[in-house]
Amino acid sequence: MSCIFCKIANKEIPSNIVYEDEKVLAFHDINPQAPYHILVIPKKHLSTLLELEEEDKELIGHIYLVINKIAKDLGFAERGFRVVVNCKEEAGQTIFHIHFHILAGRPMDWPPG
Ligand code: AMP
Ligand code: ZN
Repeated sequence: MSCIFCKIANKEIPSNIVYEDEKVLAFHDINPQAPYHILVIPKKHLSTLLELEEEDKELIGHIYLVINKIAKDLGFAERGFRVVVNCKEEAGQTIFHIHFHILAGRPMDWPPG
């Protein structure tokens, strides 16, 4: 498996981890687009949001609770933050292992570019 996020999940590639449990890993994005830019990934390989199935419902709910915890722990919950999932090329997805971007620490534009 040559997936870079599977390698990060398996600790074959280092990352700056902010949260980990048996199902999920969260780490700082290597090329941050905001003062806080964290990626939350399932340890299970799923290439895009379109691969999600019934059996993944609990995992995705869990990821949102992890995002909630990270926002509180890192101190940007009160100000607010954005969660982004890019699905496939036209949306800007470059790594085909599903990941949730958490962006915080600056005002965000809408609509996004
Ligand atoms: P996306 O464009 O939605 O697929 O997002 C991929 C994200 O992964 C980008 O924001 C990259 O900066 C980030 N990224 C790529 N390689 C690494 C890495 N080794 N560690 C942390 N973040 C990474
Ligand atoms: Zn993967």
